[in-house]
Amino acid sequence: MTPEQLLAPPALPTLRAAVTRLPAYVPGRRGTGLDIAALASNESHYEPLPAATAAVAEAAGTMNRYPDAAAVELRERLARHLGVTAGEVAVGPGSVGVLQQIITGLCDAGDEAIFAWRSFEAYPILVELAGARAVRVPLDEAEGHDLDAMAAAVTDRTKVILLCTPNNPTGVPISHDRVEAFLQAVPSSVLVVIDEAYVEYADAGSGPDSLALYRRYPNVCILRTFSKAYGLAGLRVGYAIATPAIAEGLRRTALPFSVSALAQKAAVASLDAGEEMGERVSLVKQERGRMAAALEAQGWRLQPSQGNFLWIRAGGERLATLVDAFDNAGILVRAYQGDGLRITVADPASNNRVLRLLAAHAA
Ligand code: PMP
Repeated sequence: MTPEQLLAPPALPTLRAAVTRLPAYVPGRRGTGLDIAALASNESHYEPLPAATAAVAEAAGTMNRYPDAAAVELRERLARHLGVTAGEVAVGPGSVGVLQQIITGLCDAGDEAIFAWRSFEAYPILVELAGARAVRVPLDEAEGHDLDAMAAAVTDRTKVILLCTPNNPTGVPISHDRVEAFLQAVPSSVLVVIDEAYVEYADAGSGPDSLALYRRYPNVCILRTFSKAYGLAGLRVGYAIATPAIAEGLRRTALPFSVSALAQKAAVASLDAGEEMGERVSLVKQERGRMAAALEAQGWRLQPSQGNFLWIRAGGERLATLVDAFDNAGILVRAYQGDGLRITVADPASNNRVLRLLAAHAA
């Protein structure tokens, strides 16, 4: 070694360029104060369903054991719930975990994944992490998916298209007929993922009958979660429905044991308590309607949301003013620079705080 080499600082490990270029995931803000309203993450404000809590308590004593890596009981219960076979179900740590399995299972470096923008902010992160190219297609005037533009964006490198309905953060669904026309327009070799994280909150008929479409178009993959309406965001469990060949591929791509035994048991118990979940969802939907009507009466112009959240388009100064106002009021909401504000619909008292604050800022 030369003296210069001896003096040079040692080379340090470097991250892949795909990682250093990644946009950081911005988690919903958290607060612990007594009068903080946590409306930034589209969680359920209800505690988990009592049957889920009981199942977790019962399973807690088995934590010294690995979970069932194949999640057989949960996949069979889901299959029964959905009218498919367990071979068509893949589970993962949240639907974001399943989505990572989808992207890494289908996209080689340089392949393309198309999604609407703005939509769920994990999409570009997961795509770019896989070394694939994220193709963002701007939302249309009505804050919904521009499916014509999305179909036109397909190239021979396109492997996956993500449709988010109702869309996070705008709440706008994609109608059944539009999804079906889209499926007819795109090559059958492209996997079309219908991300239905908020499907339980959607009014019947507002979005696609995704299971019917899946049965007719084998390139459909349905993505769902226990994090929202079922209230299990902290336990991390979501699932995909896809052809046996694709579902098997997703199971192979999964990190082994990534869905804990507690999460599997809680998910099964939650499905068994579906009616109770439905009652909670109805109350949130009622509140969503009440808030939308009140905001409209205040002069806000909103797109009708089919999720458990409302979307206020605002940019620049106006957004900054609103963010300050929410911060000062102890209400945690999600701001998207340049685009707007997403507010989770929760209990009536928190919702009333939002209405009072927005009344003071109406246009
Ligand atoms: N898809 C959409 C559209 C979402 O909004 C979210 C959560 N914000 C997810 C998927 C992922 O949720 P989880 O991983 O908790 O299932």
